[in-house]
Amino acid sequence: MANTLTERIQHRAQELGFELVGITPAEQSQTIQRYRKWIDNGYAGEMGYLKRHLPLKEDTRQLLQEAKSVISLAMNYYTKDPPNNLVNDPSRGQISRYAWGDDYHDIIRERLLELAEYIRNTAETEVKSRVFVDSGPVLEREFAQKAKLGWIGKNTNLINWRSGSWYFLAEVLVNLELEYDTNEPLRGSCGTCTLCIEACPTDAIVEPNWLDSRLCISYLTIELRDSIPVELRPQMGNLIFGCDICQEVCPWNSKANPTTEQAFHPRDGNLAPELLSLVNMTQTEFSSRYKDSPIKRAKRRGFLRNVLIAIGNWGSQTGVPALKEALHDDEPLIRGHAAWALGQIGGKKAKLALENQLTCEVDPAVKSEIQDALQIIGRTKD
Ligand code: SF4
Ligand code: SF4
Repeated sequence: MANTLTERIQHRAQELGFELVGITPAEQSQTIQRYRKWIDNGYAGEMGYLKRHLPLKEDTRQLLQEAKSVISLAMNYYTKDPPNNLVNDPSRGQISRYAWGDDYHDIIRERLLELAEYIRNTAETEVKSRVFVDSGPVLEREFAQKAKLGWIGKNTNLINWRSGSWYFLAEVLVNLELEYDTNEPLRGSCGTCTLCIEACPTDAIVEPNWLDSRLCISYLTIELRDSIPVELRPQMGNLIFGCDICQEVCPWNSKANPTTEQAFHPRDGNLAPELLSLVNMTQTEFSSRYKDSPIKRAKRRGFLRNVLIAIGNWGSQTGVPALKEALHDDEPLIRGHAAWALGQIGGKKAKLALENQLTCEVDPAVKSEIQDALQIIGRTKD
């Protein structure tokens, strides 16, 4: 039976689906200098909002002046792995596990608001609170580690010693002084393991717990709005939205248990979809297929760009007709990546399609992609 206010809050949070709950004082960040250095190194890539958020991340009291406590929460999104034959099939795309189901932002925000309301109704004083899920200006992993939810691993994810790292993190700031478990030891560590660093296809983990987003496939396929650097495209394999490799290899994730949240279970068609079923989706088809899904963040142009790279990496002539069609897309980004994919596949039909498009292409970046693709084909025998 939960007695104190802190215990009641923890109990209610667990009822609302937050498997991990910890509470710490709302105080100045202790890792802000490191974070600033990370941004100054350019490791945030084009995520300008991270730089803009910097002053707010220095101290949570910038977000809620009266804040006394940070309630750190984690919701499990692990669902069972798809069969290996699907994942390893290069004619199919791989989508990051967190995006197999519904968009977590809406689901978690609703629960956070319920928790905040519970606190308001339970505390015998006026309560002020603010809630954040993932995209807010809070150094959430720092607070989660302080609250003993887990440690920040070399792959930069928060890892819990009992259940691994497949968690969405969230926070509630409140103006209440609560009980803090500061004496509890933090369990688990990476130790001498370096599996994630070795497994990363693009060497994006430049040193332990130090990630260069510009090289990370999650950033490239979701956050980057423009062309994906040519030298990184082959390493992307069939990853079309996000990348889980550095979590999949983590030994602590062998302890993960499937989530009870139905909304995070895979939607039809999100587990290893056939690339050719995605490549020429119209805007209407994209919007309807990915309504309320995290995938909509990449937008049609970004998502199809990723799919085209995967088709190029598949390297099968089967992809040529769809790529020919994509060469006529309204979006130069899509036409350019279709040209690259045709260059990777090669052969007479791919060459002819590229030559024809070159005669009418007006966009300089696409023209250049077509010329590069033709050069690659020219260097290989039909
Ligand atoms: Fe590397 Fe993928 Fe992890 Fe990014 S998400 S660091 S690309 S393994
Ligand atoms: Fe740490 Fe090893 Fe997991 Fe990487 S794979 S986060 S080094 S335990």
